[in-house]
Parts: sequence; C-alpha cells; structure tokens
Amino acid sequence: MRVYNFAPGPAVLPEEVLGQAREELLDWDHSGMSVMEISHRSKPFVRIAAEAEADLRELLGIPANYKVLFLQGGATGQFAFIPMNLAPIGSTVDYVDTGHWSKKAILEAAGYCKVHVAADAGGNYVTAPPQEDLRLTQGAAYVHYTPNETIGGVEFGYVPQTRGVPLVADMSSSILSRPIDVTKFGLIYAGAQKNIGPSGLVVVIVREDLIGRARAGTPSVFDYKVVADNDSMLNTPPTFAWYMAGLVFKWLKRRGGLAAIGEQNRLKAEKLYAAIDASAIYRNPVRKDSRSWMNVPFTLGNPALDQRFLDEAAAAGLKNLKGHRISGGMRASIYNAMPLAGVEALIAFMQEFQRKHA
Ligand SMILES: *Cc1c(COP(=O)(O)O)cnc(C)c1O
Repeated sequence: MRVYNFAPGPAVLPEEVLGQAREELLDWDHSGMSVMEISHRSKPFVRIAAEAEADLRELLGIPANYKVLFLQGGATGQFAFIPMNLAPIGSTVDYVDTGHWSKKAILEAAGYCKVHVAADAGGNYVTAPPQEDLRLTQGAAYVHYTPNETIGGVEFGYVPQTRGVPLVADMSSSILSRPIDVTKFGLIYAGAQKNIGPSGLVVVIVREDLIGRARAGTPSVFDYKVVADNDSMLNTPPTFAWYMAGLVFKWLKRRGGLAAIGEQNRLKAEKLYAAIDASAIYRNPVRKDSRSWMNVPFTLGNPALDQRFLDEAAAAGLKNLKGHRISGGMRASIYNAMPLAGVEALIAFMQEFQRKHA
C-alpha cells in the first residue's frame, strides 16, 4: 500500500510515473529488454535522452543559447564544478548565505577562489535577504544563491539582480515547482532526487557563453564544455535516472506544465501554513514572505511530543516527517509529486493530534 511520503530527498515520485516504469521495466517499447540494459549510444536511448531534454526545455522555456547537461556527482559535485568552470584562478565570487546548503556551497568554493559572502541574514536563517541587503562585488565571476533552502524552509520570493554578473542558482529543491525566467540566470543546477526523478543525476542548465574556460586540471567529465560537446555522453550517463526524469517531465506536461503545477503548489503550501499559523501548538519560524512552497519545517510546542507525533503519523500513513537532524522538529516536504490530498491528510492528522495531546 502506498503512503504519503514527506521525505526531503530522495522523495516521492508521481505514482503514475512509477506505474509506467513498472509496466516497461522488463520489456521497454517491445525491445525485449529493460531500458537499464541498453547502450546509452543505442538509437532508442539517444531518443529517450533527447526527448527528456526537449521536454525540460519546453517546461522551463529554456532558450537555445543555453546548454542542458545531465551529469553525475549530485548538487554537491556542482559546488566544486561551478568554480572550476566559471571562476578563473584568483577571481572573487559572491555567495548569498541563507542556510545549510548555501554554507556547504561556500565552503567548497573557498577551495577554488575568493568567496565574498554577499549577505548572511546574521546567521538567523528565517528570511531571504531583500535585494537592497545584497552587497555585491563589482567584477565578481558570478553570484551564487540557493533559491530554496531545503532544511530551513526559506525561499526567495524574487530573483536577485546582479548588474550583468552571471547568476548561479542551486535549484535542487525548487526546480520545476513554478514557472521561472531562465534568461535571468547564468547557470541553474539541481540534484534530481527532489523534483525531477531518482538520485544519481544532476541537471545543469548553463548559458553557452559561460563555458569553455574551465581551469586547468578540471576533469573532463566535469568540464561543462567537454560534456556539452558530447551531449552529456562523454562516458556512460545514469541512463535509468535519465529515463525516469523524462517520464516525470512528460507527467508535468500532462498536468498542464509549470503554471498549473505552480498553482497547485501554492495552494498546498498556503493550506499547510494556514493550519500551522491557526494552531496553538504548531509553529513555523520563517517570515511569511520567505516561506518555502516545497519544504515546511514546524515544531510542536512541546518537544517531548515529537516522537509520539512521528509514530502516530506513520501509523496513519504519513511518513518521513522528522525534521533534519540539525534543526529538529518536523518537516513536511511537499514536492510536485505530493498530491493535495496528502497535504489535506497531514493537516487533518495535525488537528486531531493537537486535540488529543494539547
Ligand atoms: C539536497 C540538496 C543538495 C545536495 O544534493 P546532493 O545531490 O545530495 O549532492 C544541495 N542543495 C540543495 C538546495 C539541496 O536541497
């Protein structure tokens, strides 16, 4: 029996997509083989790969002067590959620090270039800094930020303006959650395991003019230009994850694209925050204009009740609500594949739990 899975990542996938993958698992398109068993250079797989890219381009409205890369090494790999590819030796880069993942990106980049922290909210990560608080460096190689902090549940309600400096965004937990204007970005990257598909794949969308200047010593599999010139098939890509991502993109298109899914996500988040705000025991610390549509952390007034909450939720088919080990409390991740019914079931459970225990 399927449950409502609120895991932060790897995370819930659309049931329809999993069903289709199961249907096709042993015999893909009458080939007598699984998609996992065929060469990445075979005609059928090259078609799967190209279709996935075309569908992603259509969903996000990616202009022709951007490359779309399907890589390995996760979002964490990109923390290093971005400075290796985009920041010449000795250059300065700006990073906006809004929490856990920004910090990790900063630490990694510091090994390659001078990192200037453009804003850090004083270490109190309950809001995305407004544009006027960003102290940007003139001539920086790029500006990096994390549009959605997966652990803190802090999301930017705007896209920073950088006066011509390329903007780099870690969209691991927010890509495809609503429409965006890709032309505002120099590079977008996202680990697949939150809103795209299974883990093992990371998608990079990069403006063409930014690649081709990787620093000496960059491994060829992580040199955007080399990978782009080889259609992300310099070596064997994660074929099954790529195939699954393609199925998810088609599912999104059937759902009406990003405008429709964005509307659904807004509704899900609004309902959950409204229930939290209206309750006497649940609390979300994030300022209203910076609340994430994808990851909703909340605490119970009494931490002694945490374990009971998790046990009873799990028994009711609401799984993986435990907060991150560093922040404690609860966190409901409500990615694209979480249906409204799942959020409504969570709200009903929370109200019932409050009635019984508060
Ligand atoms: C999950 C996550 C990461 C780490 O992704 P990996 O693929 O495990 O390296 C990085 N940034 C953000 C915003 C995330 O949500």
